[in-house]
Amino acid sequence: MKKEVLEVVSETIFRMGEFLRKEGFIELLPVIISPLTDPLNHSVNEAKIPYEDGFYHLTKSMIFHKQLALRTYPKIFIFSPNVRLETKDKKHTGRHLIEFTQLDLEVKDATREDILTLVENLIIYTMEKLHEKFKDFIEKKNPNFHIPKRPFERIKYLEAKNLYGEDFEAILSKKATEPFFLIDIPIEEREFYDRLSEDGKTLVDMDLIYPYSFQEGMSGGERENELERIIFRMKAKNMDPNEWQWYLDEVKKSIPRSAGCGIGIERFVRFVLNLPNIKDTKLFAKLPGEISL
Ligand code: AMP
Ligand code: MG
Repeated sequence: MKKEVLEVVSETIFRMGEFLRKEGFIELLPVIISPLTDPLNHSVNEAKIPYEDGFYHLTKSMIFHKQLALRTYPKIFIFSPNVRLETKDKKHTGRHLIEFTQLDLEVKDATREDILTLVENLIIYTMEKLHEKFKDFIEKKNPNFHIPKRPFERIKYLEAKNLYGEDFEAILSKKATEPFFLIDIPIEEREFYDRLSEDGKTLVDMDLIYPYSFQEGMSGGERENELERIIFRMKAKNMDPNEWQWYLDEVKKSIPRSAGCGIGIERFVRFVLNLPNIKDTKLFAKLPGEISL
């Protein structure tokens, strides 16, 4: 591991936090264990710790805690350690770890467009600051490095899929030289908490896709916050609302309307430095399907 890679990770965390503070955000400490965590839209091995008469989950994402935190403060971010015990078929994607960190942020009363603009500016600011500090190292590692131009293109998920087929994300990422957003993701591709559009089929949400085949680096959207809509969405996913009492009790007390996203730190650094594998971004990388230090 090159010591410069660690310096880039460290500077990334510093500059992303600095940018968000200037935008009026405050940083919260992470939640590591809770009876409530992200159900995700794909299956992973359970990471549950028995405790007294119950159990804790290790955090897969802080989505619900972000929503609850907005009752206290309207613009928040967390460098959130996530444990997702991904299945071993993901071992060779180059993009999956079972322990990673996302910069998870959420804004009360924001729209998707607000978050898209924020993410564009956050990515550009951080890349500029990294380039100022590590010009020679970055240019040596990444001959494609350049500061992206705003606005990043917004591409509708279903239009891209119709044009390029099942593998559209990989194909578009390979062709691209600028980051872009995939928007309006179909309901069945996402968790229940991203907000349903008027059309009843797609969500008011987005993924950020890095160019040069680095693929997805961020997911987010506007969120559901009303009880009836949330129960409707849980049922559409064949989830049993009785198993979600921790969350539904809070929704009944009311949670604010919001939008937000999570940006994977390791995937961002891999993209900036053109690294062959996400494991090259950290000292104690844990790949799916193996036990590592
Ligand atoms: P998600 O909301 O599931 O899309 O996760 C948010 C972001 O976290 C993704 O866009 C990635 O940048 C990052 N991420 C998700 N899962 C992993 C993983 N297994 N390994 C590394 N980064 C991940
Ligand atoms: Mg995602």
